[in-house]
Amino acid sequence: MQKEMNVFLSEGCSRGRIVTMPVPEVVPGTVLVKIAYCGICGTDQDLFSGECSFAETGQVSYPVRLGHEWSGVVEAVGEGVTQFCKGDRVVGDNAVSCGKCDACLAGDFAHCAHMLNVGTIDPVYDGAFCEYYIIAAHHLHKIPEGISLKEASLAEPLSVAYGGIKHMNITKNSTVAVIGTGCIGMAAVVLAKCLGAKNVWMIGRNESKLESARALGAEIINIKQCDAVQTIMDLTGGLGADFVLECSGAPETFKQAIDIAAFRATVALIGFYEHRENDVNVDTMVAKALTLIGVMGEMGNMAGALSILAEHKPDLLPIITDELDFDECIAGFTRKNYPNAVKIAVKIGEED
Ligand SMILES: [Zn+2]
Ligand SMILES: [Zn+2]
Repeated sequence: MQKEMNVFLSEGCSRGRIVTMPVPEVVPGTVLVKIAYCGICGTDQDLFSGECSFAETGQVSYPVRLGHEWSGVVEAVGEGVTQFCKGDRVVGDNAVSCGKCDACLAGDFAHCAHMLNVGTIDPVYDGAFCEYYIIAAHHLHKIPEGISLKEASLAEPLSVAYGGIKHMNITKNSTVAVIGTGCIGMAAVVLAKCLGAKNVWMIGRNESKLESARALGAEIINIKQCDAVQTIMDLTGGLGADFVLECSGAPETFKQAIDIAAFRATVALIGFYEHRENDVNVDTMVAKALTLIGVMGEMGNMAGALSILAEHKPDLLPIITDELDFDECIAGFTRKNYPNAVKIAVKIGEED
């Protein structure tokens, strides 16, 4: 008899359920992974509720299998897979190449013309809120030693933050400001600390989330208690921050990012803005000769993020503020149930 597994399906309108389906079989080039942890992302919460532009514009097909922030252990490998074996601890890319276009056929999977999105919008590749997961071997990465499976479920958000960090030449003299106390902001703090920045400031308003940033080594600036721009200017002798990572996506924080940036600073905008920004002071960007980068969490940043983890072995656990068992995970998809959560990790398989 074919083995069965539990899978969480999101049906939209804040509905979802766990169903059973057959464990998929490995085919050549693929790997079957026993999922250990899967994180709940803000995008998952948006898609679960259906109250987001993706659902409104029909870019998501329900029921959808969410889950793009996962870690697991290799259960079986398909024919031709030599780089992984049973028992390897792995994480996966947030996109899956089609395998058929010119780029894929040339082995250049990152430039696939028909990339599938893991567990989010169409064209979608089933996400990892399930017990067993199948994925092409070239989209897997080994978890560095010293990083637990639970921590490794943060590899994907770390790779998103790395998409900004990789454009910044952070040294021991650098000052780095991070805006936004969500998981990506925390990931930016971790990476900037690993790279040895002199100061890493986290700017936010939620005291309990700011405490997570403090536990990661950031100096915290609570905008409810002080003016962030004035504070950064005071702390830097009027120079501003060398590198700014804006991970909040709000009109005020975009303006803040530009205002706290130093002359010739690099400002990374990580994430999407819900509205168009018409009140942008372009002259400030010009006068400061800023470099502005948009970061959307594209594929290809996982290896870079993992190599920083491998070298520095940071403690990532302050980012995971909540943990749920798989059979009770539905509560975690509703934002208001966990207003102070930075990251909710769902425990699906056993701990390492
Ligand atoms: Zn995510
Ligand atoms: Zn392709």
